Amino acid sequence: MKIYNTLTRRKDEFVPLEPGKVKMYVCGPTVYNYIHIGNARPMIVFDTVRRYFEYKGYEVNYVSNFTDVDDKIIKKAIEEGVDADTISKRYIAECKKDMAAMNVKPATTHPLATEEICGMLDMIETLIEKGYAYKAEDGTVYFRVKKFKDYGKLSHKNLDDLQSGFREIKVTGEEGKEDPADFVLWKPKKEGEPYWESPWCQGRPGWHIECSVMSKKYLGDQIDIHAGGEDLIFPHHENEIAQSEAANGKTFANYWMHNAFLNIDNKKMSKSLGNFFTVREISEKYDLQVLRFFMLSAHYRSPLNFSAELMEASKNSLERILNSVSRLNDFLKKAADGEMTEEEKKGQKEMEGLVAKFEAAMDDDFNTADAISAIFELVKLANSTAGEGSTKAYLTALKDTIVKLCDVMGIIADKKEEMLDGDIEEMIARRQQARKEKNFALADQIRGELLEKGIILEDTREGVKWKRA
Ligand code: AMP
Ligand code: ZN
Repeated sequence: MKIYNTLTRRKDEFVPLEPGKVKMYVCGPTVYNYIHIGNARPMIVFDTVRRYFEYKGYEVNYVSNFTDVDDKIIKKAIEEGVDADTISKRYIAECKKDMAAMNVKPATTHPLATEEICGMLDMIETLIEKGYAYKAEDGTVYFRVKKFKDYGKLSHKNLDDLQSGFREIKVTGEEGKEDPADFVLWKPKKEGEPYWESPWCQGRPGWHIECSVMSKKYLGDQIDIHAGGEDLIFPHHENEIAQSEAANGKTFANYWMHNAFLNIDNKKMSKSLGNFFTVREISEKYDLQVLRFFMLSAHYRSPLNFSAELMEASKNSLERILNSVSRLNDFLKKAADGEMTEEEKKGQKEMEGLVAKFEAAMDDDFNTADAISAIFELVKLANSTAGEGSTKAYLTALKDTIVKLCDVMGIIADKKEEMLDGDIEEMIARRQQARKEKNFALADQIRGELLEKGIILEDTREGVKWKRA
């Protein structure tokens, strides 16, 4: 399996730290509003990466954070006259609903920055002890960039250029820096802002430290894959590397994956430009499976332009797959048992070839566009060779193959296998019990299993509600 690695700027063969296991960390959203479909791109892309590893038999430990303390959250809280916690909790809940509707699996762990402050204090302390960080007079703690010799290795920037660049931008309030390239690890509180006690001043963490700390806590000092949107390469991921490698004395992540932007009118979709659609808005017009299909129709490292035409095309393509599976289901109801015919055996060979084609595409840096073409060829095969007289064995092989490959894409192709209401209620009760026992891993697993079957759960004040996707 080859993965394009931002660190080496080439496709590297994937070799896990531990055989059969993948440890991956994906930078999650800052929660001050509904997520937009640009934010949804890394969620869908890296969920697909995870699903493909699982398809290949790997056990994936997938961690993705929510940044729940930040200037934008605080600003929104002041606007609404509530505390920052109310804002972040509200949008985390909304984000989880959107993720479920996009069939994005819950992460193994979704840590929150505000719950990991202790770990951040520890890492900052270590960095100070090792001489990689220092406290300024006002209590701000900065990372001493010059001391970390590998600084710039991810973004391929040269420290001298960076320093002269920074020197021209004078940021007020950062006069205590030894060097313009140094970045904040901890900063003093401002009036009305949330803050925590620390050895340096009452304050809050800088943005970058949370990911270094959460990654270490939930995955260990070294991980296989660290991922996020390409805007995070510099400074966020560069700074994460500096913090983690300086504190732990080990290589942080072996593979760095970055998705390109989702654009609109060929400009980056972003909240600050105001040119965005929320996932929620799109869900009013389309089943979010269509959004998912649209996102995966391009390679994750290529910019993707959002348009109504492309969404319509994705909707039609998706329907072709769903109709084909539904047709196979209809034939299956009356199909005969017994061995495949010679003709069908030839079809099965072709099927195996297409599975190999799908895998080759995914093995080549997760080329979902080519993988989807292989699925379409399977659909074509099904439509042209399966019929009233086909055997159960052949129809099942076709259906299972299409459903399985679609599942890697996070596309639920078989809508017919609907669960009975009683079975759903029973699984929800088991999930509630697991939550009561604080077995959140099991609770998330049950939620995931239901999702696989197209059942979406919603935790409300009145209890758990569910609906079919
Ligand atoms: P943020 O909430 O801005 O920190 O973003 C959360 C994640 O979404 C990060 O991985 C960003 O790189 C990614 N992201 C934000 N906007 C876009 C976009 N227009 N296209 C693709 N990824 C994006
Ligand atoms: Zn991060």
